[in-house]
Amino acid sequence: MGNVMLLSNKVDIILEKAMYEEELTSDEIKYLLLLSEKDDIAKMFRVARFLRYKYFKNKIFYYGFLYFSTFCRNNCNFCLYRKSNQIVQRYRKDKKEILEISEQLIASGVHLIDFTMGEDPYYLLNDENLEELMNLFKEIKTKFNIPLMVSPGVVSEKILDNFKIAGVNWYACYQETHNKKLYQKLRINQSFNERMEKKFYAKKIGLLIEEGILVGVGETVDDIINSFENMKILDADQVRVMSFIPQRNTPMENWISPQRIWELKIIAVMRLLFPDRLIPASLDVDGFSGLKDRLAAGANVITSIIPPRKGLKGVSNSELDIDDGKRSTDFITPFLMKHNLCPANKEEYEAWLLKRKRPGDF
Ligand code: SF4
Repeated sequence: MGNVMLLSNKVDIILEKAMYEEELTSDEIKYLLLLSEKDDIAKMFRVARFLRYKYFKNKIFYYGFLYFSTFCRNNCNFCLYRKSNQIVQRYRKDKKEILEISEQLIASGVHLIDFTMGEDPYYLLNDENLEELMNLFKEIKTKFNIPLMVSPGVVSEKILDNFKIAGVNWYACYQETHNKKLYQKLRINQSFNERMEKKFYAKKIGLLIEEGILVGVGETVDDIINSFENMKILDADQVRVMSFIPQRNTPMENWISPQRIWELKIIAVMRLLFPDRLIPASLDVDGFSGLKDRLAAGANVITSIIPPRKGLKGVSNSELDIDDGKRSTDFITPFLMKHNLCPANKEEYEAWLLKRKRPGDF
């Protein structure tokens, strides 16, 4: 990068600041997000990788994904599993299947399992079923001693307390946008504030938080900057961005998926702003073929690792690369090695979790 005094190019000056982890102004962040020259974008990605290396060396984390119930009481306009979508075949995995899939994921070397469901009334409105779910998490925790993430949508504080007691480490609940007007268009009849407040509550009781945004849904550059600010206020431990994929038989089915460079630039800027945090490269958007670019932009967690032939679905690209095994660690590890990266070991992931622990947590 050279000495800042010798830099005359605006992008170099901003990236130099980022490299030394000086706070960037909103205008500087905007400038980076709007970069259009290939060389400038490549420079930004290099700095993002430099910062990733500074905190994580060449280690990458694997997250197993278990979408155990695709039932939902909500009607988000962007989502395949919205309640009104009658053409989608839904499933709810039973205890035996969940245990078996968890075991398979753990044996494959994932560092964490993300248990995801829609806001399924079967669990959220029935104490007995919910208790069974908590017991299942406790059992998995005791048996396998693996970090767990839950992505159950907006749930009560009592349920969050129970997750914590069951040994869950993470609460993932993506706002998708922090522009309240846009939020209302995306998450129909759902409270913006309640969704945010649940994350603050979860943080308070010692759960780690993943916050995420969806792009290509009508957001502006300023909305992205606003989301970064919210992620900072939330002190999110993991920050994610995903490109919108139009879903059949939904109000947004005729929208066009955004150019991927938009997501990639946001990943890179996230790395500059949150250098020591986890940033996913999701297999759910473009499958295995989209992995290289996301890692090159500074991501350090590969999410949505799904065992083949278990009847499991992804979220945005519900079937892509699942049954042919391309979302498995066996397939991904050689690819990482080829690119001078490698999977972290269990201890390295747990050491990172410990670093994020605050007094009184866990
Ligand atoms: S995004 Fe989540 S809450 Fe919204 S409809 Fe889909 S599964 Fe339900």
